[in-house]
Amino acid sequence: MTTDIADKSIVSQAKQMETNTHEAPLCKHCRKASLNRIHRGSFVRTYLFFLPLKRYICYRCHRKTYRWSKRQEA
Ligand SMILES: [Zn+2]
Repeated sequence: MTTDIADKSIVSQAKQMETNTHEAPLCKHCRKASLNRIHRGSFVRTYLFFLPLKRYICYRCHRKTYRWSKRQEA
């Protein structure tokens, strides 16, 4: 039971320092492997470029998924 507030501030600080090494979400299909960041599809890149979507692939079950990336600033 640590303080959540302190953890959040640490995460936001780390996020400012390193933008690419974000914590990988778990695959919701196999729930074991972590997802790997891949480039978005051309449709999303062309038409939905303004959305904070991130594309991931699970190398365990070979599923690709889009995840909504939460924006930290409010
Ligand atoms: Zn999977």
